[in-house]
Amino acid sequence: MRRSAVLGMLVLAGCVRSNFNLATQQQEYTMTSTDKEVAMGRKLVRRVLKELPLVADEALQQKVRTIGARLAAVCDRQELIYSFAVVQDPEVNAFSLPGGYVFINEGLTKKVTNDNELAAVIAHEIAHIAARHAVKRYESALGLQLVQLATVATRQGEAAQGITVAAQAAQLAYARDDELEADKLAVKYLKAAEFDPTAILSFLNTLHTLDQEKSHYLPRGVVRPQYALTHPYVPERLRAVKEALYGVADYMDYLNTPD
Ligand SMILES: [Zn+2]
Repeated sequence: MRRSAVLGMLVLAGCVRSNFNLATQQQEYTMTSTDKEVAMGRKLVRRVLKELPLVADEALQQKVRTIGARLAAVCDRQELIYSFAVVQDPEVNAFSLPGGYVFINEGLTKKVTNDNELAAVIAHEIAHIAARHAVKRYESALGLQLVQLATVATRQGEAAQGITVAAQAAQLAYARDDELEADKLAVKYLKAAEFDPTAILSFLNTLHTLDQEKSHYLPRGVVRPQYALTHPYVPERLRAVKEALYGVADYMDYLNTPD
């Protein structure tokens, strides 16, 4: 049974709604209302804050909130209340939760060289929320589970295993597209809020350097798979951002981009 068949069944069951997503410019089907998404996000926020408490630096929190509010005001999804916070964690990372919650890890705030780069990271996270990436991933995992259940029910072991690998591969590909879409939307939001959109490029270059530094510590012969990196797809993201900014990427980017 294909995913579209599962979706069809759910539409008939009346639990799927359809709406036009301004961020992706597409008609989308969802099982998750905005209210449900916010409730889901809140629960996750509580869990996150138990593990990663807020950084005590109020000036830094204020700066992130101010930049965040400027970007949220121009983003494609206005029915949410966005919040922004810096959490105690040395990783050079940032993440967003469904419902409008954006978190910046303390380690990242030390690696950005100016407010435009910080804005670039925040714009990327807002874009994930506006395009409803987390919700879609959750729903596609749910859909895939339904497919797996159906397969297990009709056939035996091996077929079910095959589809698990395929399902995982599909999710990886999906996440990669999310990253590229979030970067393109970030360019749009940065421009609209009058930040320098080229800050995405400079910060991606910083991430690229960090990735290369990190890989020096790997034991010889250990190959780090591209998908397992904390910030995967950096060369592809650089290319996508250049295309969004200038309409074309350089020749070297095509050479350096894995297929
Ligand atoms: Zn992302």
